[in-house]
Amino acid sequence: MALEKTEAVVLKAFNWSESSRTVVFFTRGFGKIALVDKGGRSIKSRRGRIVSFAFLELTFYTSEKESSGYIRDIDPLKTFSFEKEGTVGRLAYGSAACELLNLLLPDSEPQPDLFDYFAAFLNTMETADKRSLPGLFPAFFIRCLSHLGYHPSLTHCSSCGKQADSGSWRGTDDFIRFSPERGGVVCSSCQTAADRYIRLSQSGFDQLVALQRASLTEAAAMPIAYADTELLLEVLTSFMSFQTGLSGRINSLEFLKKMKDTKLK
Ligand SMILES: [Zn+2]
Repeated sequence: MALEKTEAVVLKAFNWSESSRTVVFFTRGFGKIALVDKGGRSIKSRRGRIVSFAFLELTFYTSEKESSGYIRDIDPLKTFSFEKEGTVGRLAYGSAACELLNLLLPDSEPQPDLFDYFAAFLNTMETADKRSLPGLFPAFFIRCLSHLGYHPSLTHCSSCGKQADSGSWRGTDDFIRFSPERGGVVCSSCQTAADRYIRLSQSGFDQLVALQRASLTEAAAMPIAYADTELLLEVLTSFMSFQTGLSGRINSLEFLKKMKDTKLK
């Protein structure tokens, strides 16, 4: 059993008794790991608390015999409050990012670049203007997918590989067709009646291409309305389901949609 120390963010926690639980972390040094937290929920515990949306210095014991190691100590390094205007959106997108990483990250594979990108995303969620939030999450989503090897094809037809040109993309109804199953856009000569496509307008498609290339600062500056992100997120969640075999359901996004729909009524 070895003692290790690394920077970490909580992705998920499962309580299994009044005082104990399993906590899934995204760590800088070890990737995604699940650790047992014995007695950490007890009010008698003197250890630093495990909080969501915070960078923690995590000290833990690795275990070769048991399926997971366990937490020895926690020190908060930086906590995000998301108190700025638009708190519900900030919390929902922040939770959605944690859900997404919990779904996509392989166990115990260090991903330091992605960890730093996630840190930058949480920082941006804390400080960005409310109007920037809808563009930031899809930019984060598409970057995570690409980083982990699931790169949606937007510049070339995902069936024949032909490069995009203005004529061949759009169907007779002027929409561009994205196939989650084939992993990207499909040119008009490769489209079949049996396939299921998500139809994108030229402007929706342009937004997706721009987000795929955008840094977080660039994404924050893109004027995307919340309503426009719904289709982009449908493209990305369907793409993820087909390409990874994982459920495309992200509860925090469904919660945010319900909140917005109630407000609009
Ligand atoms: Zn084609």
